[in-house]
Amino acid sequence: MSIKVFNTLGRRKEEFQPNNPPLVKMYTCGPTVYDHTHIGHARMYVSFDGIKRYLQLRGYKVIHVQNITDIDDKIIKKSIETGRPWNEIVDEYTREYLELLEELRVRPHYNPRVTMHIGDIIKFIQRLVEKGYAYESNGSVYFDVDKYEYYGELSGRLSKDLWGQEEEFVSEKRHPYDFVLWKRRKPMEPYWDSPWGPGRPGWHIECSVMSTRYLGERIDIHGGGEDLVFPHHENEKAQSEAALGVRPWVKYWLHTGYLTIGGEKMSKSLKNIIPLKDALRELTAPILRLWILSVHYRSRLEYNETIINQARKLYDRLVSSESIIEKKLLEASKSHYDKDEDVERMKTLSSIILGFHEALSDDFNFGEANKYLWEFTRFVHAELQYSESGALALVAKEFSDHLNAVYSYRTTGEGGISFELFKEVVDLLIEVRSELRKNKMYELSDKIRDKLGSLGITVLDYRNRSEWVLRK
Ligand SMILES: [Zn+2]
Repeated sequence: MSIKVFNTLGRRKEEFQPNNPPLVKMYTCGPTVYDHTHIGHARMYVSFDGIKRYLQLRGYKVIHVQNITDIDDKIIKKSIETGRPWNEIVDEYTREYLELLEELRVRPHYNPRVTMHIGDIIKFIQRLVEKGYAYESNGSVYFDVDKYEYYGELSGRLSKDLWGQEEEFVSEKRHPYDFVLWKRRKPMEPYWDSPWGPGRPGWHIECSVMSTRYLGERIDIHGGGEDLVFPHHENEKAQSEAALGVRPWVKYWLHTGYLTIGGEKMSKSLKNIIPLKDALRELTAPILRLWILSVHYRSRLEYNETIINQARKLYDRLVSSESIIEKKLLEASKSHYDKDEDVERMKTLSSIILGFHEALSDDFNFGEANKYLWEFTRFVHAELQYSESGALALVAKEFSDHLNAVYSYRTTGEGGISFELFKEVVDLLIEVRSELRKNKMYELSDKIRDKLGSLGITVLDYRNRSEWVLRK
C-alpha cells in the first residue's frame, strides 16, 4: 500500500517517495525558548511524531531534527522587560521544553541550538554573499529576494505586492521585501563577531544551516505549523536552494493546522494559552497524544471537555482491550493455539487493520484512523473476548503493538522497560509467590498479591497454580 502526502509545495497529494529509501530525513521547526511550551506547540510536535512513527512502522528509517531558537528578538524583548539575562531565560525554557518533549514521548534525534552553530551560520551567509544572493548593508546582511527566481512558490505568493515584510531596516535594503540574514549589533544586545562586524543571526537562516549540518543538502520532509509557511519556510527554501544549488531542497512540505479552545484560536492576546505542563499534569501524555492524533494533522484541533473526554474513553478502551488480548493469549498458549478456526472474526479484524492502514497511508489521516481504533476496541470487547482462536488473539496482539508503536499510549514499555520484560518480571513474581503458598507462607504471598493488585495486576489463584491479568 503506497503512502500519499499532501505537499504544501504545489498543494496536491503526491506519492511518498523519499530520496533514498528506506531513509527519511525529516526536519521540523522547534520553539523559540522565551516562554512556556503550550499545547499549540504540542499539537505540532505530536502530529509529526505520529507521522514519523507511522513511517517507522512501514519500515522507513526516519532521522528527525527539531531545532531550538535560543537567540531571537522575542528573547531579547523578554530580557529587557524582565531585567533577566537573556541566557538565563533561554536556559530555563530550553530545559522545560526538553523535559516536556520527553514526557510527551516525542524524541527527535537532534535538538540543535542556534547559539551553538553561529560559525556554521556565518559560513552559510558568506556562501550566499559570494554567490550574489545576499548583500551587506550598514553592518547587516540581507537576502536579495529578486535574485532568487522561485520566491513565493511555496506559499503561493507569486506577486511582489504580497512580500512586504521586515519594515525595520527598510531604508538600507535594496527592496523592502529583502529579509535579514545577519543583524548588526544594537546596544545592550548579545552579539557575535562576523566578517560584517558584531551582530547576530536573523531568524530564518538557522533552519537552513542546521538542517544541512545534520541532514545534508536534501530533506525529505520539512514540517511546521501552518503559520510558518510565510515568511519563514518561504525564506528557508530560498536561502537553501540558493546556497546549496539543489532543487527541490525539500521534497515534501507538511504543515499542521492550528488549535482552538472553545472555538477561539489560542493566542497571547486572547489570554487563553494552556501551558503544556498543566495539560500533561491533568491528562497525562497518552491521553494528550490520543487527543492530538484524533484529527487530521492539517485540520483544526479543538480543545474542549467533550473532545478530551473522547480521548480519555478511548484510552480506557485501549487499555482494557490489551488486558483482554493478554488474557486470550494466555488461554491460547495453554491450548497450544490449536483452536484457530474463527474465520468470520478474522475477516472482521483484518478489515479493521486494513482500514487503519488505508487511513494513515492517505496523507496520514489520523482523523479517519481514529475510527478504526474505536472499532478495534469494540471488536476486542465484543468479539475476541468470546473467541477461542489463538490465531485471532495473536493477530490482535500484533495490531495492538502496532497501534502502540504509533500512538504510544502504554504506560509500560515506551521509554522504560519493554512489555515482554515486564511480563517476565511479573511471571517470576507469580512463580515465587506460588512457592510461598506451597510452603504456607501466606502472609508474604498475600502481600505480593495485594501490592500487584494496587499496581493494576489482578492475581487469580487456582488449586495448584496462579495467573495474572493486567487491568486497565
Ligand atoms: Zn524553521
